[in-house]
Amino acid sequence: MKLSEIFSENKVHFSFEFFPPKTEEASRALLETISKLSPIQPSFVSVTYGAGGSTNQLTQDLVIRLKKETPMNVVAHLTAVGVNRNDIRAQLERYAEAGITNVLALRGDPPKNNPSFTPAADGFAHAADMVAYIKKNFPQFGISVAGFPEGHPETPNRLLEMDYLKAKVDAGADCICTQLFFDNRDFYDFCERCEIAGIKVPIIAGIMPVTSLSGLRRMADLAQGARIPAKLLRAVLRAQSDEAVEKVGVHWSTQQVFDLYDHNVCGIHFYTLNHSKATLKIYETLGMSLGETWHVPNGNRG
Ligand SMILES: Cc1cc2nc3c(=O)[nH]c(=O)nc-3n(C[C@H](O)[C@H](O)[C@H](O)COP(=O)(O)OP(=O)(O)OC[C@H]3O[C@@H](n4cnc5c(N)ncnc54)[C@H](O)[C@@H]3O)c2cc1C
Repeated sequence: MKLSEIFSENKVHFSFEFFPPKTEEASRALLETISKLSPIQPSFVSVTYGAGGSTNQLTQDLVIRLKKETPMNVVAHLTAVGVNRNDIRAQLERYAEAGITNVLALRGDPPKNNPSFTPAADGFAHAADMVAYIKKNFPQFGISVAGFPEGHPETPNRLLEMDYLKAKVDAGADCICTQLFFDNRDFYDFCERCEIAGIKVPIIAGIMPVTSLSGLRRMADLAQGARIPAKLLRAVLRAQSDEAVEKVGVHWSTQQVFDLYDHNVCGIHFYTLNHSKATLKIYETLGMSLGETWHVPNGNRG
């Protein structure tokens, strides 16, 4: 089902982000996570594409496997890092053949040892260019793009960034999925600025429960621009163990989700980091009913 069809159903859509595991053990753990999360019946799940193009094959294999072996709608992340139009064409052809109907079109994060983004020859300088390419050559795909409620570090001009976001939507994006945020006011303000800019597509709120102090440190490094409110930071630092940090993190995200519900958001996207516990706890606290559990066959593939 295409993203536009998913969001034509008027409800709060839950979705999950996974990353492709690099070992057999991590792969088994992910399948277990997916089974545990399955009763939530997500409207879609998405599979990341490693920074610097580092998981190209693993991403494709996981996307296709989940499509084949589960009833989930799978959204494949695509990035422009180190790839040209032919590479993107090849990925889209493989996805189309496998029955994948949605992608998240990103410029991508360059590798850590070469942090400034340089497009490949005949590649895409900005995500908007990739969106236009997909729309023209693979119109059967639904397209999501990234949004940054607290801004993207490369564009400190907060008016220009909305022009760039609008360019992605005008090029054909069906929805926007946001970077994670810890203060809903940033999200609501972002939605309002989108409205002013004439952006009318659904905006999905990105939520990541803090589950450990080390995880919070990694997140601060990876999630560009995401602010950690002092109140949350104080609570996390006060906690005496990772278990206690997780309780604080789950409580914080649960409050965020309740509030997002009250504001009639169309979608909540959980950055799961391939774990199920925190997301399940949040969902259960909402008092939502759960569907059936299904299992992904645990073969020796990625
Ligand atoms: C939901 C979500 C999922 C993500 N998944 C991944 C993933 O799987 N793999 C990965 O590597 N990264 C991922 N990222 C991170 C993302 O790739 C980086 O943040 C990247 O730096 C920006 O990508 P973008 O698609 O927003 O790029 P763009 O929209 O191209 O923006 C990149 C920068 O260029 C600026 N810009 C845009 N258009 C123009 C223009 N015409 N002229 C000048 N400047 C312009 C923007 O303001 C921004 O600062 C994800 C981010 C989000 C929010």
